[in-house]
Amino acid sequence: MRASQYHLNTLKEAPAEAEVVSHQLMTRAGMIRKIAGGVYTYMPMGLKVLRKIEAIVREEMNRAGAIELLMPVIQPAELWQESGRWEQYGPELLRIKDRHQRDFVVQPTSEEVITDIARNEIHSWRQLPVNFYHIQTKFRDERRPRFGLMRGREFTMKDAYSFDRDETAAQASYDAMYAAYQRIFTRLGLTFRAVAADTGSIGGSRSHEFQVIADTGEDLIVYNPDSEYAANIELADAPCLLAEREPAREALEKRATPDAPKCEIVAEQLGLPLSRTVKAVVLATDPAEGPARLWLLLIRGDHETNEIKVGKLPGFGDGYRLATEAEIDSVFHCAPGYLGPVGLPPKAITVIADRTVAHMGDFVCGANEAGYHLSGVNWGRDLPEPDLVADLRNVVAGDPDPRGGTLAIQRGIEVGHVFFLGDKYSRALNATFLETDGKPAVLQMGCYGIGVSRISAAAIEQNHDDRGMIWPRAIAPFEVVLCPIGIGKSDAVREAAESLYLALQAQGVDVILDDRDTRPGIMFADWELIGAPLRVTLGDRGLKEGIVEIQARRDDQAQRIAQADALAYIL
Ligand code: ATP
Ligand code: MG
Ligand code: MG
Ligand code: MG
Repeated sequence: MRASQYHLNTLKEAPAEAEVVSHQLMTRAGMIRKIAGGVYTYMPMGLKVLRKIEAIVREEMNRAGAIELLMPVIQPAELWQESGRWEQYGPELLRIKDRHQRDFVVQPTSEEVITDIARNEIHSWRQLPVNFYHIQTKFRDERRPRFGLMRGREFTMKDAYSFDRDETAAQASYDAMYAAYQRIFTRLGLTFRAVAADTGSIGGSRSHEFQVIADTGEDLIVYNPDSEYAANIELADAPCLLAEREPAREALEKRATPDAPKCEIVAEQLGLPLSRTVKAVVLATDPAEGPARLWLLLIRGDHETNEIKVGKLPGFGDGYRLATEAEIDSVFHCAPGYLGPVGLPPKAITVIADRTVAHMGDFVCGANEAGYHLSGVNWGRDLPEPDLVADLRNVVAGDPDPRGGTLAIQRGIEVGHVFFLGDKYSRALNATFLETDGKPAVLQMGCYGIGVSRISAAAIEQNHDDRGMIWPRAIAPFEVVLCPIGIGKSDAVREAAESLYLALQAQGVDVILDDRDTRPGIMFADWELIGAPLRVTLGDRGLKEGIVEIQARRDDQAQRIAQADALAYIL
C-alpha cells in the first residue's frame, strides 16, 4: 500500500465524548467514525485490523473442528418466544416490526436460530458432535454505549454453538473451545487470563471468560498467581469503578427516573456479610414486577469515616441516579482501607446498576447455579454456596487463598466467553436426535462468543503510550511503515524505499510506503499514533553510509541496520 493512494486522515484531538483511550486513539487515527451512539463505520484501517482478528479466529475455529455458516441478523420473534427470551431479555434486545406488523429482533446472539437449525438438520447420533459458528454483526441496545468499540451497540462477534449426545461429550466440546480460545488470544499477541464467570442472560451452568488484562478494564478479576484459580467479580455494570470520571457521573445523573417503583432491601435475608470486595449486598425487587427483575444497591462510600451508606431508593428504576443524604437509611462501618481496593475515590458516590435475575448470580454468588428460585421470594434459605461466594465474601488483594498462596486483583476486559448450556435451549425448542436405541434424546449444547470488534479496542487499552497505539504485529493495520525522508527530492531515497517496499511485499509483509512527501515530524507522529510495529526511515545521509533506521514502536532507540540486511531484519 502507498500512503498517497490510501485514505489517511488523522486528527489532533479526540472527540470530547471519548472517555477511554482506545476510543480516543481509534478516532484520532481515523480507524472508526461514529454514525450514532454505539454505532460506528469501520474506516479502512479499522477494517484491516478487524479482518486480521477475524482471520485468526476463523483459522483456529476451523482447526478445532468447528464449521462456519452464516445466520441472519434479523430473526423472527417466534423463535425468541419459544425459548422464553422474548419476555426475559429486556431492553437490550432490539425489536422491530415488518410492514405486516410481524415482530422480529436484530440478533444480539443466535442460540434460538442455531437450535432451530439443529432440530431441523440433526436427526441421528451419527451426525454428532457438531459445532457451527459464524462471524456476524450483533446489536445490543446497551444502556451505556460510550466506550467506542469496547461497548458498541452494533458490533462484530464470533459465536459458535456445539451440539452433543450427552453431557460428557458436551464437556469435551467445551474443553476443545477453551483450548482454541487459548490459542486465539495467544496468536493475537495479547496478555489475557481465563476466569470463572457468571452466565448472564445467555443462561447455562458452567462458563469461563477470557479477559484481556488492562487497567482500564470494566471487570475486576480475582486470581491466585500461583494456581489456576481466577474469577470475574464482574463489576462491568458498576460505574463505581468509573466514579472518578465526571462525564460518567453526569451521564448517570441524567438517567434519573424519579417515579420508579418502590424497592425492597433484602440484603439481610441473603445473609451475606459485607466484605472488602462485595461492598454491600443489597438487592431490591420491584413488587410490581415481582422477582423477575431486581435492582442492586446504591451506596455512598466514605474513606474518612470508613462508612458505607445504603439507601432505599424510591427512584431507582430502569436507570440510575445518585442518592441524596436524606435517602440514606443504613450505614455500615468497615475496616480502614476497605474502600481502597475497589478503587473508590474519597467520598465517591457509587451507583450499581440493575440486573436481571440471571445476572444476580454474579454479584451475589458469582454463578447462576441451578436451584436458584426466585418465585416466592425467600432468599435467605437454600442459597447455594459455590466456591465463589466464599471468595467474594473474603477476597481482597493480598489476602490468603484458602487453597494456598495469596490472592490478587486486576482489571480486565471480557473478550471471549464460553458457556456450557446443557439442554436449556434444546429442550425449549424440542431439538432432539435419535440415539443408538432409536429413542429420541435432547441435544446437549454449548455456546462460545468472541468479541471480534472489542478485541481491536482491548488490544489498544493494553498496548499504548502517550503518542498512540502499539499494535501486536499479528493484528496491526500495517506491520511495517517505510518513511522516506524527502522522497520528492532524492532519487536515492525513492529508489531505496521502492525496492525495499517491493521486496517486503513479495515476502507477504503488510507494508505501507509513506510517499506523501510530508515533513518527517508529521509522518512520524502519524505512524506513532497509528502504532505500526516497525518503522523504517530512509534518508540521504544514512543511505550514503549504506544504513537505514529501523524503529520498533515499543523501543526507545532506533536500530541502525545495513540497507542490505533490512529485509532479513524485518522478516
Ligand atoms: P459484557 O459483560 O461486556 O456486557 P457480555 O457478557 O454481555 O459482555 P456475551 O454475551 O458473553 O457478552 O458475548 C460474547 C462476547 O461478545 C463478549 O465476551 C464480548 O467480548 C463481546 N461483546 C459483548 N457485548 C459487546 C458490546 N456491546 N460491544 C462489543 N463487544 C461485545
Ligand atoms: Mg453485556
Ligand atoms: Mg459479561
Ligand atoms: Mg459474557
